[in-house]
Amino acid sequence: MPFKSLGLNPKLVQGVLAMGYGDPTPIQLRAIPVVLEGRDLIGSAQTGTGKTAAFALPVLQRLLKPVAKGPRVLVLEPTRELAAQVETAFRDLGRFTEFRAAVVHGGVGYGRQREALRNGTDVIIATVGRLMDFIQEGAIDLRNIEVLILDEVDRMLDMGFIRDVKRIAELCPKSRQTLFFSATVPPEIEAVAKFALKDPARIVIGRTQSVNESVKHAMFPVIYDQKFELLIALLEKEDFQSVIIFSRTKHGADKIARRLKNENHSVAVLHANRSQGQRTTALEGFKNGRYEIMVATDIAARGIDVSGVSHVINYDVPENPEDYVHRIGRTGRAMSVGDAYMLAVPEEGGDCHDIERFIGARIPQLKLDGFAYENGKMPVVDTSRPFKNPMRSKKGQAQGRQGGGGGGRQGGRPGGRPQGPGNRPAQGKGGGKQAGRGNPRGGSSRSGPASAPAKASSRLRRGR
Ligand code: AMP
Repeated sequence: MPFKSLGLNPKLVQGVLAMGYGDPTPIQLRAIPVVLEGRDLIGSAQTGTGKTAAFALPVLQRLLKPVAKGPRVLVLEPTRELAAQVETAFRDLGRFTEFRAAVVHGGVGYGRQREALRNGTDVIIATVGRLMDFIQEGAIDLRNIEVLILDEVDRMLDMGFIRDVKRIAELCPKSRQTLFFSATVPPEIEAVAKFALKDPARIVIGRTQSVNESVKHAMFPVIYDQKFELLIALLEKEDFQSVIIFSRTKHGADKIARRLKNENHSVAVLHANRSQGQRTTALEGFKNGRYEIMVATDIAARGIDVSGVSHVINYDVPENPEDYVHRIGRTGRAMSVGDAYMLAVPEEGGDCHDIERFIGARIPQLKLDGFAYENGKMPVVDTSRPFKNPMRSKKGQAQGRQGGGGGGRQGGRPGGRPQGPGNRPAQGKGGGKQAGRGNPRGGSSRSGPASAPAKASSRLRRGR
């Protein structure tokens, strides 16, 4: 069914076409009519399914009918990057309509945001902390909010924002429409939904824990001391266009990035210890192709949309199975295909077991052809038993994610599992890559032997 059959105004259909979208994604097909009807909604869909347009389009349609007072729409996001991204989506989709939007998030000065609010706005896209600051100083009046959108609610719960979210919901009129998006809806989130929503429609797209089906995933077992070497060898062999490498810790991310730079890769780094300016520059540079690689902690794993990510490499096995799904969600986003690799040391077998159970599939263990494995043999990662860690509790996870937007854990975990990049320097590769290899989105044409079976799928189809 095309977009124009969903009851959207022609100006919005024009915006959708200008974005290069063909048909609506499943969440858009199901959510847009419900939201246009004015009903409350709980949407759970896996990451990268097009949920931003699923709420932005019907909300923009509502804004076509002018009323005197604003702000009329409030969108709450867990991170600054997501807030900025959602604002861009509103502007892109609504480019043929007239509306005013203001984004309000931490990490930057108050002045411009205060001014945008003072000048009047129809839509506010905000992170919770900064919004609360403005509410407390009386710079925002929520009494005319018609639609409240709570996006990535599970993430907000993890980050400890739920009490503020409830407070904000209480400041909005009871007659509002509320849209609620969460990858998972565990009981704590169900309780928030009960508090904030009235007779909501429910839309579940696929199993929430499933990995995106357009992603081919694989595990490369390696001993700890050879991890970085294997990463370099993998990057040499794969026909990648843009890669996100995930590290569990901020320190680890910095170290991996340093070593990759030494190998003449162009690298951006994204984690919570970086200033907002550095984070924006890193993300922009990665999006526009200035950097071929972005090394990130889990702060980048949720929701961030970078089109054309051909590979995700988990340098560390993520500690929480949910994080695997979110990390993997950075590739193979709507209509594309991508590869997701994980470097796993034998000691991480239990964590790999937990991930496999969570996603309901085995992750194939692949040997990298031509790589000089120590003792000539690829190690085996035994995924037959769960990882047993009494310290791993929901509470522990939440604490580990707080402090600057989910920047991953510092300090390691009990059990003495190795973390961070291997210390052994990468072995000479004849000078490594040439500096300034140009725009990786243009497709670096790497030849060389096809290594893993996943090679066949490593080319990105970019339909957008
Ligand atoms: P989201 O899940 O909202 O972050 O969207 C993920 C990506 O899918 C973004 O790059 C969107 O621009 C893109 N997208 C959203 N809807 C469609 C569609 N109907 N067709 C193709 N791409 C889409």
